[in-house]
Amino acid sequence: MGPPGAGKGTQAKRIIAKFDIPHISTGDMFREAIKEGTPLGKIAQSYINDGHLVPDDVTIGLVKERLSRDDCKKGYLLDGFPRTIPQAEALEKLTKEIDRPISYAIDIETPKAELIRRICGRRVCKVCGAPYHIETAKPKVDGICDICGGELVQRPDDNEEALTTRLSHYEESTKPLLVFYKNKGLLKTFDGMVGSDNLFVELCALLEGK
Ligand code: AMP
Repeated sequence: MGPPGAGKGTQAKRIIAKFDIPHISTGDMFREAIKEGTPLGKIAQSYINDGHLVPDDVTIGLVKERLSRDDCKKGYLLDGFPRTIPQAEALEKLTKEIDRPISYAIDIETPKAELIRRICGRRVCKVCGAPYHIETAKPKVDGICDICGGELVQRPDDNEEALTTRLSHYEESTKPLLVFYKNKGLLKTFDGMVGSDNLFVELCALLEGK
């Protein structure tokens, strides 16, 4: 959990590498479908580019199929899902059915001014998805991914207008989930300003049960 720019994707990539579990990012799945021009991609594209949420029935169906696969048996990391109360309720029902309950809802808190700075300067590798920032995480060669040599691009929804819409959806639809998970005793809150490395150490301590 956490607004756009809180660091969910960055931490998720580090966690799945360390714990060897699948990364279930609905945003990545939608972007992949758009790139491939599938029917799902065609539905998702207009919502995503304008910063709106993709309808619940589409998103829930996607996660349902993904969580039922065998590689989720040893654990999984959800990133960007659930984002609405109906999604959280559907997730609860589904995880009961397949007996793969979630252990924690991790919330990363970050002030709004910092989110805008991070998102507007964010660049991602078109090929491997590695994250960069024009000021704070520059690649060695301008515009080129250090890891795979792919081209660095700006996500179409990483502009100030779409970000304003995304932040208002976060406030209205996603923030109520913090209370939902707090009431279930699953919410763990972290400070998104401690730096990526420090945050990763704190998250690992939680996941390793320290
Ligand atoms: P993200 O990469 O998580 O920032 O997601 C990018 C965009 O994909 C969001 O702004 C939404 O348009 C869409 N999206 C991702 N996850 C969801 C979700 N759980 N529910 C609805 N829309 C989503």
